[in-house]
Parts: sequence; structure tokens; C-alpha cells
Amino acid sequence: MNAYLDIDHVSITFPTDKGPLNVLSDVNLKVQQGEFISLIGHSGCGKSTVLNIVAGLLQASQGGVVLEGREVTDPGPDRAVVFQNHSLMPWLSVYDNVRLAVDQVFKKTKSRRERDEWTRHNLDLVHMSHALERKPDEVSGGMKQRVGIARALSMEPKVLLMDEPFGALDSLTRTHMQDSLMEIHARLNNTVIMITHDVDEAVLLSDRIVMMTNGPSASIGEILEVNLQRPRDRLALAENPTYNHYRAEVVKFLHERHQNPDKSLEDAADESAVEVPSNVYSLPAQMVSGKKSYPRHLEKSELSLGFIPLTDCAPLVVAREKNLFAKYGLSVELSRESSWANIRDKVCTGILDGAQMLAAMPLASALDDRHCQPMVTGMCLDLNGNAITVSKELYGRMLATGVDGLDTAQGSAQALRQVIEQDRAANRQKPAFATVFPESSHNYLLRYWMADAGIDPDADVRLMVVPPQQVAHYLRAGMIAGYCVGEPWNTHAVCEGLGRTLITSHDIWNNHPEKVFAVTRMWAESNPNTHVAVVMALLEACAWLDEPGNRHQACEMLSSGRYVNAPVDVLEKSLTGTLLFSSGEQPRAAPDYNVFHRNAANFPWRSHAIWFLSQMMRWGQAGENIEPDVIARAVYKPDVFRFAAGALGYSAPETDYKQEGLHKSGWSLKSGERTLAMGADLFMDGHRFDAADVKKYLAGFSITRTTGSAGDSGDFEEAI
Ligand code: ADP
Ligand code: MG
Repeated sequence: MNAYLDIDHVSITFPTDKGPLNVLSDVNLKVQQGEFISLIGHSGCGKSTVLNIVAGLLQASQGGVVLEGREVTDPGPDRAVVFQNHSLMPWLSVYDNVRLAVDQVFKKTKSRRERDEWTRHNLDLVHMSHALERKPDEVSGGMKQRVGIARALSMEPKVLLMDEPFGALDSLTRTHMQDSLMEIHARLNNTVIMITHDVDEAVLLSDRIVMMTNGPSASIGEILEVNLQRPRDRLALAENPTYNHYRAEVVKFLHERHQNPDKSLEDAADESAVEVPSNVYSLPAQMVSGKKSYPRHLEKSELSLGFIPLTDCAPLVVAREKNLFAKYGLSVELSRESSWANIRDKVCTGILDGAQMLAAMPLASALDDRHCQPMVTGMCLDLNGNAITVSKELYGRMLATGVDGLDTAQGSAQALRQVIEQDRAANRQKPAFATVFPESSHNYLLRYWMADAGIDPDADVRLMVVPPQQVAHYLRAGMIAGYCVGEPWNTHAVCEGLGRTLITSHDIWNNHPEKVFAVTRMWAESNPNTHVAVVMALLEACAWLDEPGNRHQACEMLSSGRYVNAPVDVLEKSLTGTLLFSSGEQPRAAPDYNVFHRNAANFPWRSHAIWFLSQMMRWGQAGENIEPDVIARAVYKPDVFRFAAGALGYSAPETDYKQEGLHKSGWSLKSGERTLAMGADLFMDGHRFDAADVKKYLAGFSITRTTGSAGDSGDFEEAI
């Protein structure tokens, strides 16, 4: 059977300064009419080159492309291309940008009036009819991209070619765009080839996912058929095991490509990379701590670092905006990501060099080496910063229980327990709560809070995972009754009148570690100097952020569409030391809501790592036989911190462990000749945590999975 579109034995070799570079070797793909194909693979493997050959913008050295029986030799309107950068004409209105393409294609076949109607019709398809007269500069990035798609569709192409079309959009806009693309594809049955880096996007949209091998001489590695019924509903799919299986297959493919780079690439690898073959990473011997100089030779100077739109991505944003990365010779691109799962996958597969991560994420990587590269962290980015918010309805019911102290951790948990008991008696559904990732302080502290009142988080409520920037939408839609999330997503829900904030995570555990900067162990081994340089830039940014006078400026930076994309006044509430709990109240003082530097906040305490591991054991995410200290040593790297801090002249603790739950206010830690100011470290229930004896610590809790109590372990729905 002849294919509609046939990419037939395509190879291409480019002349370069170092001689010919064979980029594609024998790429074969047959596409049926109406099929939606995603092309996925590591950066630089040749995806855009494939697309450009199909578009007729590049000529294959061998083989070729046949569309409906005719060989492709030139660009043509039967193959419209949408690039990441919309490439609209800035001087033309939205309408005229599309009209221009319509005139070019239909000059002879449509009348003036028909061309006008056709232009409007296509802009209507992408919901842009309201902005026909605006110039590209006067509409948002998402809208520009929609105009680019309307322009491509208006040419009635046989094939729509899209090169990372939504890569530059924020996650909400991206979600809308994916939905409208699915709707348009269902209606028009276009044949589409789309390049993407986003695993979820690929599975959601495609009939087949074509995974390319690493270059040079890249070809097609595997093709995954996605047999999911259309129309597809992203929310329903999130809990669909088949969907998650496909997702895992793609991640696995990318991961294996990363672990086994093609030989020719290995040969070409940077010769200056330092070899540290041992199983446990430590800084190379020549890098001793306490030096007052920073490493000048960088193994890699252009980095792509990931973050999630939250106020506590501030250290990365400040390091970039205040040119601190540049100060240490780094050119850093910050990549806004749509979920923690994406961050993990992109760091594991090498698409990102490193990222802001939840403090427990790199530890989880050590427990799951089948799906994840081992990761390490050399610095904590901040303490505290999360809160628990519930719907107005749930809050009303909690108030009606008459339990005292709803604004305390213990009182609010008791009230929630009574509401759950009422529901159980009336045979109503258990309330659903969201956290942002299974291995997060959010999950562990929400569970800690519930369990304190005798609520079994695996049996008495339904827990699900929702990316931070989407929790308020879930609350609005009534899909969850509450959540634990970082800012500005509590204040946002309160300001929108959707919910009421009960307590902060600081109320559950004073000054708990929150985010870290993490990279894969392999990356840290290959780039020790670069790693230290990044940590230095981030440390300086954290110190800057904790100067009280700077927080307002930080809010202005974060507010931008490319970072958190939220109004300055919403960001300011929590970042300037207050928190708005209810829309009818004044913000309350919360001076330690975000701690970025004070109180040795940036030190990667191995005892903190062990507390997270204890919670993984408590809730059945990790077996009882893991060795927390071995994992903590492999993942949390105080040496990297001490080296970077030493070079900056900052103090660092001399020990790697401390006890938790002892201090109800500030205290002093001796460190050589200096003393470090430290913060309170109490837990809501007065428990003490000693990292040396995790089993004894866990035995002190009545609700836990480790002692065989009721409830299934790991009953965690991953909802996106
Ligand atoms: P991807 O889209 O997968 O990130 P590309 O298709 O853009 O990758 O590039 C694949 C490889 O081909 C890269 O190593 C790139 O440097 C090289 N390349 C692309 N175009 C040219 C060209 N015109 N001349 C030389 N090398 C090129
Ligand atoms: Mg490309």
C-alpha cells in the first residue's frame, strides 16, 4: 500500500569546518492521511532537519520525500510549517498576517469576499476573532502562536508540520493550545508531524510517537503506537494505566539513549571532563573546600536549567536577572516546566542540565534507578513556603464542627477529622486532597498533619498529584477539597474567593527544607567546576533575596510572564513576610514564610535527607530495609556547598547532621570560630527526630505503613 506521505530512505550530510557531518542516516517513515505523528528525541539529534526536509526547505543527500505520489523538491503551501517562534510580521495586524497567506494560496481560486471569510473562519477556529485588528506585539505569546497556527491551517495544507509549537508557552496556555489542536485535528483530519520535548504532549496528541536515536547519523529508534480512543480527555487519561504505560515507554527510551550515547558522540565528548568512576560522587580531590577562589575553567558554560512557576523559583530568576550566572562565566537559559514529573524526566534524560527540585526528588531517584538517573544536590534553595488551603465549603463545615483553634495545625486537623467522620456516617465520598508530587514536603507534611488527628491519609481521604499552577483550577472545578502547595497558589485561590488557607507548612515543621538545586550524578561528575559555579551564583542570589529591601524587586522579576506569571500584589503578600489566609481578612505576619538564606538555609543537611527518607518508609514508598544514611550520603553533597560557600567567604556548618524538633526559637550553632544563627525546628506534635535512629523515630507514630497498620501502601493517584 502506498503511504500518503513517505519519508523514504532519507540521509543527509552537511559540510562543516571539521569535514562532512552525517546528521540523518536512512530515516524511513510512512504516514497515513489524517495521522498525527510526534517526533521526539534528544536535542540536536536531527528532528528539525527531518521536518525541514519534509517541508522542502532542505534537500536530502540520499532518498527523498513523496507526498501523494509526488516527490517533494521545494517548499509549498501543501506543507505548512509552524515554528516555536510564531514568526508573524510585526507590522501587520492579526487579520492581515493570516490574510497574506490566504491571498498567496487562493488568489486564483477564491474571490475577495471568500478570502476575507476564509481568513476570519480560520482565526475563529483558534479563538482569535476578538483581536483581528491588533498587532502581534499587542497580544500574548499564546495568542501569537494561535495566529501562527491559523495561518498554517488557512493554507489548507495536506500536511501540518510543527516544530516545538508550544515550547515557549506557559503551561496553562499550552494546555489550551493542545486542546484546541486536538479539536481542530478531529474536525479537519489534517495529517500532522509535530516535534515536541514534552512526553505528556506527545502521548496526549499522537497516533504514533516516533523516537529518534542520538546523532550523528540519527535514524528512527522506535515507533510507539498510541491506541487511546479519541476524543481524548487529559484529566481522565491522567489516571489511565495505558496512558501511563505509553508515557513510561517514551521516558524509558529517552533515558536509555542518554545512558548509552552513540559511540561517535562519546568520542566527540569534551576531553576536559573529569573522570570520577566511583559509585558515589564526591568532588574531585583537587577541589578542596575553603579556597577563596572560584574555578575558572568551566567544563560547560551554556546551561539550560528548569524551574516551576512558584515564588520559590526566585533564586534561579534572581541569579539570571541580576547577572550572577554571568558573573561566574555561565550563560543560562531558564526553562519553565509544566510539572515536577517533567522536571525529573528532563533532568534524567539530559534535556536540562539541572533544575529546581523538591528536596525529596533526588532522594527518590536513588530508590528508583530503573526509571531515573541517580541525582545529587549541593544546595538547598529555601526553607518553608507551603500552605494548606481548603475549599470555602469544606472550611464552612470545619467551622461548624465547633472545634477550637482552626488556625492551628492540631485544631484544623481535628476539625477535618470530624468532617470526614460525618461523611463516613452519611456514606458520602471521601474528600480529595492534592499535593504536587509523591516525593515532596507537601505530601509528607500534609500526611503528618492529617495523621496527627488520627486521619489515615491512605484510607480516609483520596490523595492525588496536581502540578502547583493548576491546583486552584481543580479546587474551582470541585475535583478536590483542599491541597498543600507553594506560593502564589494559596494566595491566588484566596484572592479569587475559591478557598481559605488553614495553616502554613512552617506550622507543621518549623523551617523545613523545601527546594534544592539538583543535577544527575553523571552531570556532576563530568562538570564539577560548572556545578560549583552554578551553586555560587545561586547562593549569592539567595543571600540577595534575604535582604529585606530586595523582596519587592524580586516580586517584579517573578511576576513576568516567562517566570511565575502572576500579579505583583499576589506575589508580594507571601514574599514580603505576610500571608493572606482569607479574603475577608488582612494578611497575617509570616516572617519566615520563605527563608532563602538565613539560618544556614542553603546547607544540604544530610539529616534533612534522612527525615525525607523516613517519611518514604513511613508511607510505604520505600521498603523498611533501605539504608537512609547511605542514600543521604550518595545524594546530599555538603562538600559542593562548602566549596562554593568558601569561595564566596560565606560560613558553612562543619557537621552534616543536626537534630530536629529541639528548638522552639532561634539558636546558635558553633562552626569553628564562628557561630551560625539557626532557626526554630519544632514539629507540630513535639516529636524529636534523630537521624541516627530512624526505626525508633517511626515507632513513635501510630499511623504508619511500616508497622503493618490498615490501608494499602502507595495508594497514590498520579493525576498529571
Ligand atoms: P534537533 O531539531 O533534533 O534538535 P537539528 O535537526 O536542528 O536537531 O540538528 C541536528 C544536527 O545537525 C545538529 O548537530 C546541528 O548542528 C546539525 N545541523 C543542522 N543544520 C545544519 C547545517 N545547515 N549545517 C551543518 N550542521 C547542521
Ligand atoms: Mg530542533
